[in-house]
Amino acid sequence: MSETLVVGAGIAGLSSAWYLRRAGHAVTVIDPDPGNGASHAAAGMIAAVSEVVHQHDAIRPLMLASAGEYPQFIADLERTVGHSVGYLRTATLGVGATPGDVAAFRDLSDVQRAAGMAVEQLTVRRARRLEPSLAPGVSGAFLVADDHQVNPRSLLEALAEAVYAPSGTGGPQGRLVRERVTAVLREGGTVTGVRLADGREVRADATVLCPGVSFPAIDGLPEAHAVRLRPVHGDILRARVKPGHPALLERTVRGLVDGRPVYLVPRTDGEIVIGATEREDGFDGVSLEGVHQLLRDAQILVPGAADLELTEILARARPGTPDDLPYLGGVPGVDGVTVSTGYSRHGVLLAPLCARFTAVLASGEVPPGPHDTTLLTTTSLERTP
Ligand SMILES: Cc1cc2nc3c(=O)[nH]c(=O)nc-3n(C[C@H](O)[C@H](O)[C@H](O)COP(=O)(O)OP(=O)(O)OC[C@H]3O[C@@H](n4cnc5c(N)ncnc54)[C@H](O)[C@@H]3O)c2cc1C
Repeated sequence: MSETLVVGAGIAGLSSAWYLRRAGHAVTVIDPDPGNGASHAAAGMIAAVSEVVHQHDAIRPLMLASAGEYPQFIADLERTVGHSVGYLRTATLGVGATPGDVAAFRDLSDVQRAAGMAVEQLTVRRARRLEPSLAPGVSGAFLVADDHQVNPRSLLEALAEAVYAPSGTGGPQGRLVRERVTAVLREGGTVTGVRLADGREVRADATVLCPGVSFPAIDGLPEAHAVRLRPVHGDILRARVKPGHPALLERTVRGLVDGRPVYLVPRTDGEIVIGATEREDGFDGVSLEGVHQLLRDAQILVPGAADLELTEILARARPGTPDDLPYLGGVPGVDGVTVSTGYSRHGVLLAPLCARFTAVLASGEVPPGPHDTTLLTTTSLERTP
């Protein structure tokens, strides 16, 4: 049985820790503030189709493959923990406020269809039949049947249960060390564990690094093939329908308002998550302008949002990479370590695929098929973005 360290208890770290435990590893997760990074803010859209961006072709196969693994990932996890994690397979509605916004959605739908993805343009009347809360004045809508969502906080809690439960399939009960890792320990060309901020050293057979945007603060790895990350902050609001009021939305609404993106993601318990801002100003706090923009644009698309109770406002940094592809793989020239970070806007979507890959790599195995090998080539630390 292999002793394995997982640094970081966000969605990347915990999903990897669960897969590693299932593969028979004795897992120790290390994090001073588990689950409070970007994953705490994520809206939870599993949006392989809607997240298509012009000229970002390389990430599409990863997104589609991971979306395809989601139903099994959730079914296995819900069976393990014995309760729901808030996975909803309702469709996503793209909504344009102005004719220009609809034209932008139409351009994107050409790219999506060319990639074999299903997108259906709807009349406003049909969109409002699906979602009666949509403003009558919106200009057009697009239905994306294959984009779903999960509640990331419920998912994180369930993954923690699955990793730390006394009994479980695979390896022994995982353990959590609440401390910050300052460096990886190396003996020659092999990583043998990590050093903690309190000076302790923790040794293991394999080390998996999932510290999100904080990766560059961990010392001890060679500079060559450096993981290059930049914080892309997002402001996000949580709201809920008032007691006794009916649900506002059934599906995720991803809108454009004069070119500005905004999404409203409804949960099964009446919560609605509103977000979409992206800032590269290095500011960790909440931006007043970002909040104003979200409140205004959400109400332009869904006027009834004005009646919600606002319950939470927060901001977190997405771990952005120069080419929008994650870093997932070994470190060239160094054994015993696997890096899994840089998930940018897609960490929730990519969790099942990346956890599976991380468990394979940390076990010293080769990916099971040529498709997986190709996918891993795109995330390699040796690429030159
Ligand atoms: C506003 C917002 C909305 C988003 N919406 C979506 C969405 O709808 N769909 C989607 O797919 N993605 C979404 N994302 C992106 C997604 O949240 C991230 O890609 C994902 O959470 C990254 O997960 P992670 O585990 O790599 O990082 P994190 O969740 O940031 O976790 C990293 C963990 O590592 C720990 N850590 C850091 N440094 C150290 C250290 N030195 N030692 C030990 N532990 C350490 C931290 O405490 C933290 O718990 C969103 C992000 C934001 C900010």
